[in-house]
Amino acid sequence: MEKLSSSIPRDLKLRIQNAKHVVVITGAGISAESGIPTFRGEDGLWKNYRAEELATPWAFEKNPELVWKWYDWRRGIIAKAAPNPGHIIIAEMEQFYPNFTLITQNVDGLHRKAGCKNVIEIHGNLWRVRCIREGKTFYLEEVPLHEIPPHCSCGALVRPDVVWFGESLDPTLIRKSQKALTTCDLLFVIGTSGIVQPVASFPSIAKQSGAFIIEINLEPTPISAIANISLRGKSGEILPALFKTD
Ligand code: NAD
Repeated sequence: MEKLSSSIPRDLKLRIQNAKHVVVITGAGISAESGIPTFRGEDGLWKNYRAEELATPWAFEKNPELVWKWYDWRRGIIAKAAPNPGHIIIAEMEQFYPNFTLITQNVDGLHRKAGCKNVIEIHGNLWRVRCIREGKTFYLEEVPLHEIPPHCSCGALVRPDVVWFGESLDPTLIRKSQKALTTCDLLFVIGTSGIVQPVASFPSIAKQSGAFIIEINLEPTPISAIANISLRGKSGEILPALFKTD
């Protein structure tokens, strides 16, 4: 990671190389090249359901079995997935920059699998479950689940320990993210549609604090309007090109 590829503009290379405090925000797009569908992509078996109809507390209350069948299907896909070059470069960035924060909206655990140590999993982790009676959390990594819906040892149902539509995020994680965003000099926003709040507003916080923003996405998003530079293409190709040594 010492030198950047010559195909990247020199001023961008210097900015990336000389940054002191870097924040990376990722969304479902970073994991798309690992074979994990984004919410807005084709969902095969589940294409008749929208995520907004299944990833909610009301859906779980009404039909926990249906919600868990959907999660069991997603967990099955994710269990087979490996980190792609985008995840791997981000893990290397953690080593390269003295001050580095990764905020992911993903619940798939692939950043950790790629070697990232400090990840703010702001929407939770789909390998962790939470007892709906006691609130205790634990990892349940069995694929496929032998019992749907699964239960806690106390007999109550467990739910995925993820943040569903209509639920609040952990305030401690929000504060930690905000602190990093107000002090960073470089922000990467990668593979997110920029419409799920509050993360959709995070780039504005960094912008107001003077950070340079690099967006990487296949298509324009609301974040493109405030990004200093928007790189169009796959994160698994663009990130290695940005950090390629000559
Ligand atoms: P999203 O599905 O709304 O948007 C995905 C974005 O990624 C799009 O803008 C798309 O253009 C872009 N994209 C797709 N492939 C890409 C690639 N190869 N390189 C770069 N960009 C690419 O996802 P979101 O913004 O993360 O928000 C939706 C919510 O869905 C989040 O809360 C997230 O937790 C959840 N989700 C997570 C996973 C996961 O954990 N892997 C998967 C699906 C959804």
